[in-house]
Amino acid sequence: MREKKRTPLSRRAFLKAGVAASAALGLGAAGRFRPKVYGRARSAKKMIVLGLDGMDPVLTKRWIDEERLPAFRKLLLQGGDFRALGTSLPPQTPVAWSNFITGMDPGGHAIFDFIHRDPKAYFPVFSATETSGAAKTIRVGKTVIPLSGGQVRNLRKGKAFWQILEEADVPATIFKMPSNYPPVESRQRTLAGMNTPDLKGSYGIFNFYTNESMSAIQEAGGGGRVHDVYVVGNRVEAELPGPTNSFRTGNPETAIPFKVFIDPQNAAAKIVIQDEEFVLKEKEWSGWKKVCFSLIPTQSVSGICLFYLKEVRPRFKLYISPIHIDPARPALPISTPESYAKELERRFGPYFTKGLPADTSALDNGVLDETEFLELDDMVLEESLAMLEYEMARFDEGLLFFYFSNADQRQHMFWRLTDPGHPAYDEKLAARYGDVIARTYGEMDKALDMALRTADKDTVVVAMSDHGFNTFRRGFNLNTWLLQQGYHRLKKPWKQEESAYFDNTDWSKSRAYGVGLNGLYINERGREGEGTVAPGPDKDNLVREIAQKLEALTDPKTGERAVLKAFVAKDTYHGSNLAMAPDIVLGFNRGYRISWQSPLGGFPREVLEDNTQKWSGDHMSAPEVLPGIVFANRKIAAEAPALHDLTASVLGVFGVDKPKEMIGENVFE
Ligand SMILES: [Zn+2]
Repeated sequence: MREKKRTPLSRRAFLKAGVAASAALGLGAAGRFRPKVYGRARSAKKMIVLGLDGMDPVLTKRWIDEERLPAFRKLLLQGGDFRALGTSLPPQTPVAWSNFITGMDPGGHAIFDFIHRDPKAYFPVFSATETSGAAKTIRVGKTVIPLSGGQVRNLRKGKAFWQILEEADVPATIFKMPSNYPPVESRQRTLAGMNTPDLKGSYGIFNFYTNESMSAIQEAGGGGRVHDVYVVGNRVEAELPGPTNSFRTGNPETAIPFKVFIDPQNAAAKIVIQDEEFVLKEKEWSGWKKVCFSLIPTQSVSGICLFYLKEVRPRFKLYISPIHIDPARPALPISTPESYAKELERRFGPYFTKGLPADTSALDNGVLDETEFLELDDMVLEESLAMLEYEMARFDEGLLFFYFSNADQRQHMFWRLTDPGHPAYDEKLAARYGDVIARTYGEMDKALDMALRTADKDTVVVAMSDHGFNTFRRGFNLNTWLLQQGYHRLKKPWKQEESAYFDNTDWSKSRAYGVGLNGLYINERGREGEGTVAPGPDKDNLVREIAQKLEALTDPKTGERAVLKAFVAKDTYHGSNLAMAPDIVLGFNRGYRISWQSPLGGFPREVLEDNTQKWSGDHMSAPEVLPGIVFANRKIAAEAPALHDLTASVLGVFGVDKPKEMIGENVFE
């Protein structure tokens, strides 16, 4: 048996990317699939489900009333229905979509948070995937990347609903479902979405080349790399870093050299990289460029990336997007059958394959401004709409699920400009970009319009989201609070603020710790590496005591409670996979969220602090604060449906029995 490694995490940018990705390079696809010719489905019914990440019921309703969402409005006027949709606890994206995929809660599917921890070492780990057999890892900046030669495994438990449909001979196409990387084995057409890494096996690292001093960005950690370059005689020479090369001793990082020739008169430059040669004007995007990293003479890895010439002079600034897996030659498994990703590439050319393609890190670090970020995310949006149209045109039986990331990503980045009470509110920017979120909902309306136009009378159309949204004004330093309350102890208290990954913790005197975005764990004897609290009544009493104190905590700045509800996990979840569950799951109040540093074992000075980042909207509250949406082109019988009920409803539409572990109920009955 080769050793299994949970992938340790890089710091803050990971939390923002919202993409939990660990991967080994050089793998084949998830499995070998025989293309299957489906027999007649058990029901002639058809179903289209649009997954519109992050769409909020209050905002949706408001803009329907203001007649800004004509397709949503039409659906309601023509006998359709609408409910707020109960989200997961916690309402994080991978947790919520896993509820939908399996019809279970985290007790069943075992995804409790973006981040879990290794209880023996207390180390934060990705919750979504596990890389086994990669004998070594390499550190790139603060990111540890497993080397090639291993297998990457999806850690979600339970059957996906399209696997159940497959057993019943109901065909399905599942486009970019989050929490399905690597895609689970299936003969259905599935394309992986969120969690899919970039070519470096990370959540997505941009490269930025400049002769301006940008040390502040280099310090920002994660999300991107800044390269200092010199402009000599109108010429820049630099390298584009690629995946590590496990074929060579020391596993060096691969790189492709490239040259930029700046036009001496005009604001333009010619870029020469491998066989490509192209000219960009200032503020122009390149379109997809293929890059090929050679490992040994017989082995290479292919990727795709976008170039953006931000500025030619007085300063030189060139942005290169994270390197996406090339869908024509995927180095990692991104679809079932393997041919599906390639088929789309033949039809559309190269396309976004990395989990969440919007480069929120580049905006947060000031490498891209608001307009540039939106130009990039508009490419994602246009591509998704084109691919939806393509799938709609050939959709004639079974289920079509189609996912959009834009509303979620833009609400994260632009909420500050709709909330004058936000620490990062900016009046000038608000005048210019305050309408971005409303316009994005309008784009989602176009997707619904397409679905309604495609649907015949037997087609069930559902538009749903995984959670709603709210402002993120104040961050809670859970670990600092545990320290102040005496539940946690540091070896060198005078080095509190330098602590990371609990490297300064005295575990022999600590009783509790926080890891991830909503999780609190007791330092339990027998479970944790240096556990101090006996399981049973001692632990139960401590859990109750901490939960009560958390719910009583008020923010001195606002007088509001930061934690609306502290959920005791074992009283809340169902299923047989509670082993990795936190002991307490924090349900934050409106406006609050975990801070930037606490999730990975940091101890900043203050318990509560202002969030001054552009990442300013979020969804880590108690589930009752931010339900998602469900719209259907027929009546919804259930008064208060939740995500796992939609799973049972999909099976119900096709007359397929739900498995006994599925806790949801058909909302149409
Ligand atoms: Zn989100």
